[in-house]
Amino acid sequence: MVARRDALVNLASLLRSTRGSDDEVFEEGLLEPGEESQIADDVHLAEPLEWSLTARRTGGDDEDFLVDGSVRGTAVLPCRRCLVDVPVDVEAEFFYLMRHRQSDDPAIVLAEDDDVAEDVLEFGQPVVDFAPLLRQVFAIDVPLTALCREDCKGLSLDGVNLNEHPEAATPADEGTRTPSPFAALGDLKVED
Ligand SMILES: [Zn+2]
Repeated sequence: MVARRDALVNLASLLRSTRGSDDEVFEEGLLEPGEESQIADDVHLAEPLEWSLTARRTGGDDEDFLVDGSVRGTAVLPCRRCLVDVPVDVEAEFFYLMRHRQSDDPAIVLAEDDDVAEDVLEFGQPVVDFAPLLRQVFAIDVPLTALCREDCKGLSLDGVNLNEHPEAATPADEGTRTPSPFAALGDLKVED
């Protein structure tokens, strides 16, 4: 089976079904990086994202659904010391309340809901394009920085990669590896 290359999910059976039948829609596929392979400054995707999701009825209001799933892939970031590309595997999970609100707009909208004090995904059409959401969920879990290896020697003041040319190091370059007050910031990772 050739995996699909988008993230269009048809929720019509959920919208139609009476309670007890077709209470769940499971879909999975690949999502091409496409023109949006650039997910942040200096960060891009090398290959398609793998995603899966399950949408189900809540059992309460007929217009309310739950969706959960995961999106996996490899982000490519520049090493924070020597700037070579570093592949970083990322797996992000998500869970949202979804609400059907009739509209001609096929996009899903992340709306604030004061009643439940969290964001609700509103969709207006039975076929929902999850691609923007999946990309966003993935991007949030990409670390801010990466290292090509723990002992990366970085660049010399002349811009020479000292991993490849350690002989190019000068006493001045040794000085650049003295921990700066901001060094710890490089290891910060955004948690959601
Ligand atoms: Zn490096």
